[in-house]
Amino acid sequence: MASRIIIHCDLDAFYASVETIHHNLNPDVPLILGSDPKGGKGRGIVSTCNYAARKFGIRSAMPIGEAWRRCPGPPHGPGHYLKSTRGLYSRASRKVMSILSENADKFEQASIDEAYIDVTEYCSGDWDSALAHAKTLQTKIFEELGLSTSFGIGSTRILAKMGSEENKPAGIHRTLPDEIELFFQNRSVREVPGIGPKTATRLAEWGITNMSEVSEFGEIALARFTSERFASWINRVIEGETSDDVSPLRSRKSIGKESTFEFDQVDSEVVLDHLTNLVMRVMKRAKEIGVAGRLGEVKIRYQGFETHTHGKSIPVAMDDETVFLRLARSLFAENVEFDRPIRLVGFRLGNLEIPSSRQSTLDLDE
Ligand SMILES: [Mg+2]
Repeated sequence: MASRIIIHCDLDAFYASVETIHHNLNPDVPLILGSDPKGGKGRGIVSTCNYAARKFGIRSAMPIGEAWRRCPGPPHGPGHYLKSTRGLYSRASRKVMSILSENADKFEQASIDEAYIDVTEYCSGDWDSALAHAKTLQTKIFEELGLSTSFGIGSTRILAKMGSEENKPAGIHRTLPDEIELFFQNRSVREVPGIGPKTATRLAEWGITNMSEVSEFGEIALARFTSERFASWINRVIEGETSDDVSPLRSRKSIGKESTFEFDQVDSEVVLDHLTNLVMRVMKRAKEIGVAGRLGEVKIRYQGFETHTHGKSIPVAMDDETVFLRLARSLFAENVEFDRPIRLVGFRLGNLEIPSSRQSTLDLDE
């Protein structure tokens, strides 16, 4: 059967780019969105930042005080600190998503700034036409919204996702079905979605740091110190035989935990600590019952019971706690409304994959 053609689209430094356009800022000046740094004395966290700020080592969910030390604002340094403008992001995202969904056979939004589309029929199975299509979409999004995007084209979700990371920002990378082996040659295992830091460490103990070494080791030997399931999966990754399904996420089967604060909490650093703890407990539970998830969701309830849920999906189901910690922490940082007292925070691992040998009714909320 012929391969499907999957495109992954990722907006580059989405939040920071939207603010840059909105405030007409210079993109070369480090822009840090988040809590008020109060000249380095402020509490709270970095929501997100632009590429210029990333060069100083600033990252989403970092304490705002640390960001200030790395890149102070005037008169001590070039940092431009700004509070997020609510409402801008979902509006921009909706416009991008409608451009993508209108120009594809199938569409799946993975988060506010990421989506997968299947264009197999749309492009008549032609990979050159898919490449041209990605370029057209990239231009259209830039012309209509001023936003930069990166595209990855491949025959599986993993290849499409890895492609969009390949030459960010504003990149397009296509991996043809007969280029998959070449694409993975000498590529670090850490770049493969589905291999979390823990698995990468275990592989490194056996001298495996790149995908060529995975191939050389062979499935049977690999299964001996990982698991049969992992060994077979990683070999399917290299063969280009992992999932090419693009369909809206269903979050019915999930594991979630949440915690309510005794007193409404205004310090985002404190809430982030609670969230970290919840994620670790959810992932521990997932391990215990032997399931992996493809969707992470953070729930924030503010004073007055207004509740928001922010989700992000990954290309393959995983049970690696480090992966979901990073995902949940940045989802929280990017979406929390600073200065609003928080009553409750929660985390949910969704779109669970249950190994068929242990089907069970999942009703695991606490
Ligand atoms: Mg992005």
